[in-house]
Amino acid sequence: MMAGSHVAVGAALWAVTARAAGLEAAEPQALGAAALGALLPDIDHPQSWAGRKMRVVSVPLSMLVGHRGVTHSALAILGCLALLAVMGVGWLAAPVVVGYLSHLLADSLTPSGVPLLWPNKRRFSLNLCRTGSVVEIALVAAIVAAGGWAAGIDLSNLPKPRL
Ligand SMILES: [Zn+2]
Repeated sequence: MMAGSHVAVGAALWAVTARAAGLEAAEPQALGAAALGALLPDIDHPQSWAGRKMRVVSVPLSMLVGHRGVTHSALAILGCLALLAVMGVGWLAAPVVVGYLSHLLADSLTPSGVPLLWPNKRRFSLNLCRTGSVVEIALVAAIVAAGGWAAGIDLSNLPKPRL
């Protein structure tokens, strides 16, 4: 999926999770952490948003394991948790991990799927949309709308675009 789609789905999934946990659904720092978590798995692709920001990581990672390898697996989520703990920012763990998980779920909607149980090569895919397609945009819009509704976020006060 496209970076914008991952950010939107990650924020929506975090808002729903936060609401279910009794937290503020639209808390900006947590939403930002979820959005960041939703972009991290594509650090294995030098042309992705995360890959362009961290070329020192993305270029060798891309050469070693390719796109949608270990960074798109459950093992990577454990690694992410360990890294956050070592960095002393454990308070970010929940939104980052939910965002990260949202990325794996979103990529599993595409034909390529994700190797959730890496190093097992089996890929999990629902094959519902191609990256960058109109169907992807429609699915993401539906997920965000459903997530916003489930999280109880009032979208009626958003600024209206000027035409
Ligand atoms: Zn991805």
